[in-house]
Amino acid sequence: MGLPAGKGFRYDRRMIVMKFGGSSVANAERFRSVSEIVRSQLDKKPVVVLSAMGDTTDHLIDAAEQALSTGPVTVEQSLELITSVHLNTLRDLGLTRSVPPEIRELLAELGSLLAGISLIGELSPRSRDFLVSFGERLSVRIAEMYFCAQGITAKALDAWDAGILSDGNWTQAEILEESRRTVPAALAPLLEKNIVPVVTGFIAKNKTGGITTLGRGGSDLTATFIASACTAEEVQVWKDVDGIMTCDPRVISHARPVAQVTYDEAAELAYFGAQVLHPRAMLPCSMTGTPVLVKNSYNPTAPGTRISTQLERGVSAVRALTSRRGVTLVDIVSARMLGQSGFLGEVFAAFARHKISVDMVATSEVSVSVTLDSCYNLDDLTCELSRIARVEAKDNMAIVTIICDVRRSSQILERAFARFGALNVQVQMISQGASKVNISFIVNSGEAETAIRGLHREFFEAA
Ligand code: ASP
Ligand code: MG
Repeated sequence: MGLPAGKGFRYDRRMIVMKFGGSSVANAERFRSVSEIVRSQLDKKPVVVLSAMGDTTDHLIDAAEQALSTGPVTVEQSLELITSVHLNTLRDLGLTRSVPPEIRELLAELGSLLAGISLIGELSPRSRDFLVSFGERLSVRIAEMYFCAQGITAKALDAWDAGILSDGNWTQAEILEESRRTVPAALAPLLEKNIVPVVTGFIAKNKTGGITTLGRGGSDLTATFIASACTAEEVQVWKDVDGIMTCDPRVISHARPVAQVTYDEAAELAYFGAQVLHPRAMLPCSMTGTPVLVKNSYNPTAPGTRISTQLERGVSAVRALTSRRGVTLVDIVSARMLGQSGFLGEVFAAFARHKISVDMVATSEVSVSVTLDSCYNLDDLTCELSRIARVEAKDNMAIVTIICDVRRSSQILERAFARFGALNVQVQMISQGASKVNISFIVNSGEAETAIRGLHREFFEAA
């Protein structure tokens, strides 16, 4: 089925997208549960999107780095690791005694590529994208074989055969808008024949045929893009956690899953490193209002988290907490600021000149405080700014953020500060985002854990 002339192609039948991340396809056992999860929802017409198996993407990057630094011997070793993960999985799935030709060809090509990299001693962003694309290309082919052996008619598709085109921005490519037409046009004929398309996440092709990638963790974006373009009923993102959690479980072991959040809240959480979804992944679905369900492939019956435009009535105002360490707070104080125009402009121009990215900002009549990642050397900036203001940089700060409905900020702040007061946590700066979903506090790193535990108790553990 081609594109109807002139008009955009729309797939208007029911379908869903199911995306499985690396840890959900890390070995034979995981492929078995993925196949059961897919089988249980065949009536919803799934399109499956897969990541590379386990840590394959990292292994591929390591292999390239070794090829560059130590040459052919280590190339053999890294290739051996990647090869054995895939071949052992095939064997454990009982798929084959001899390696299927497609997989053998991909592995051989990968071997030549690594040899080439070690020979030339160069890894351009373009060849790096080409190299890491092997991970996803291998995993979808294994899934196709296993699904078919289980009686699920499936077809492995490289992203470009599923209609996904990108720009040529290697390692961080953007999917082109025209894929909104080409994706449903490519997938509809398969869905109509009850074939499950199994599509590579993370990778794409640009217009001249070069293989690109969408940035680490980019399979989420592939999945949400396909779901949005095909007006899917929902996109299920299968991970190894029970959904978006009230707090990072490494910080608070009794954190629990959040039943529902909005796209904006989820995007904010991703930005703050909640590691749940790729930060850009929310965009396609929020544009079309396609619900995103975050589920745990290790615990498929857990309800997971639903991300959508609107929350149900009666949902509490506070959704989740996040924290981020390694933050520097810069205080810029100048009496010149009083009643002046252009002062802030000068300050931010200086940050821009030194290529320093500012995260949070708070101002008063005579001062402005900003936060940034502690990775920058601030000597030159401080020197420049001290011509117009007094500058003080404080390291070892942390941001503690409440993701919440800011329309209810008075009650939230009252409860937060009551806790901080009782725990003797000193807040150095506070910022309430115009995004209406976050209130952030800057505290000393040493007090961050106390602060976040106190907030968790206040908002999620109260009787
Ligand atoms: N395999 C890629 C990565 O590890 C993409 C993904 O998993 O989403 O970054
Ligand atoms: Mg991965």
